[in-house]
Amino acid sequence: MTPDLMEAGAAIRAAHAEKVAPGQARFVAAEPYFGQGVALYVEDITVSFDGFKALNKLNLTINVGELRCIIGPNGAGKTTMMDCITGKTRPDSGKVFFGSNIDLLRLKEQQVSQIGVGRKFQKPTVYEQLNVFENLELALKADRRVRASLFSRLSGAQLDRIGEVLTLIHLKDEAQRTAGLLSHGQKQWLEIGMLLMQDPKLLLLDEPVAGMTDEETERTAELFLSLEGQHSLVVVEHDMKFVEQLTEGRKKVTVLHEGSVLAEGLLADVQANDKVVEVYLGR
Ligand code: ADP
Ligand code: MG
Repeated sequence: MTPDLMEAGAAIRAAHAEKVAPGQARFVAAEPYFGQGVALYVEDITVSFDGFKALNKLNLTINVGELRCIIGPNGAGKTTMMDCITGKTRPDSGKVFFGSNIDLLRLKEQQVSQIGVGRKFQKPTVYEQLNVFENLELALKADRRVRASLFSRLSGAQLDRIGEVLTLIHLKDEAQRTAGLLSHGQKQWLEIGMLLMQDPKLLLLDEPVAGMTDEETERTAELFLSLEGQHSLVVVEHDMKFVEQLTEGRKKVTVLHEGSVLAEGLLADVQANDKVVEVYLGR
């Protein structure tokens, strides 16, 4: 097919999809391309709220399989950055690419999640009345690529995947427990498990261990370390012990301040950086 024929075909399909479900056009995305080793590329994004720049020419590159911690004082723009990546907030300017080919700024929030970017908000949002297993089952069936109805039986492979995720999130023994009865930390794990059911390439986690006990925090670090490599993870967190555990003395961290990158490098170097000490860590 010649390029212009392909373009015409794409236009017809797009118009048809709009007719089928106005505003909710069936989303047929191109596959993200990770061959260049980049999972997420953010260039010079700026976001203003009434003239105040929550993000100011922010740059960030996350490699495929990388686990990156983002730290920085309250109001630095960490959550706003995640909002821009996930389509919740549109930056005034800049670029956000998933893989080397998907322009995330052209996608709606739901499309961003469908294409393989999972986001965990601070507050856990699980179905409290359903049990742990059912929560994972629902998350699996909500995945558009699976095309299963809510009432269809799970295939063997799907059952296996739920089992795997239950083990990963330390909830195998709680599979039949009502989600509402789980501890705060367990609910957070369940929500992460629900994200994993959709097999996201990139996971964005905003203060995932806030409110967790020390033991839960440690287990969460183990969980993230086990996901590293298979997924790229961007973890925003204040808990320095947790960040230390995640970086294992060899991974880069990024410090945000006033909407831009203040420092980037090994945790030890960043902790010794005078500017970082001044605005964030203190003496
Ligand atoms: P962080 O997550 O690093 O604590 P945020 O991204 O939440 O920081 O916020 C960055 C700055 O942008 C803060 O000063 C905050 O008050 C402001 N901000 C965030 N969202 C909005 C909004 N919707 N309207 C106005 N100001 C906002
Ligand atoms: Mg925040």
